Amino acid sequence: MQSKNKKAPTVAEAAYIRYVAVQPCAVCDEGGGEADPSEVHEIEQGNWWLSIALCGGCHRGPLNGLHGQRQMWKLKKLDEQQALAITIRRVFLAARGAH
Ligand SMILES: [Zn+2]
Ligand SMILES: [Zn+2]
Repeated sequence: MQSKNKKAPTVAEAAYIRYVAVQPCAVCDEGGGEADPSEVHEIEQGNWWLSIALCGGCHRGPLNGLHGQRQMWKLKKLDEQQALAITIRRVFLAARGAH
């Protein structure tokens, strides 16, 4: 996840990333929580405020993943912006304590 030229997240960014990581995958709804945290994909490298919660398969899977053939994304009719909106909504609801 962390590449060489990437700046380390600020304290606020790190806190936000933790909120993102405990959300389920924005595409297939699997995982999430402290026990099975999601991977965090940034739409724009290094911009943590554009983070999407994804499972390993929907993130890096050769067939299903965003960095692969995106088959699960096509099945669910989602693009990165829509997956971002799902993540933001879930983070917001978690942050205000509603579900
Ligand atoms: Zn997934
Ligand atoms: Zn990614």
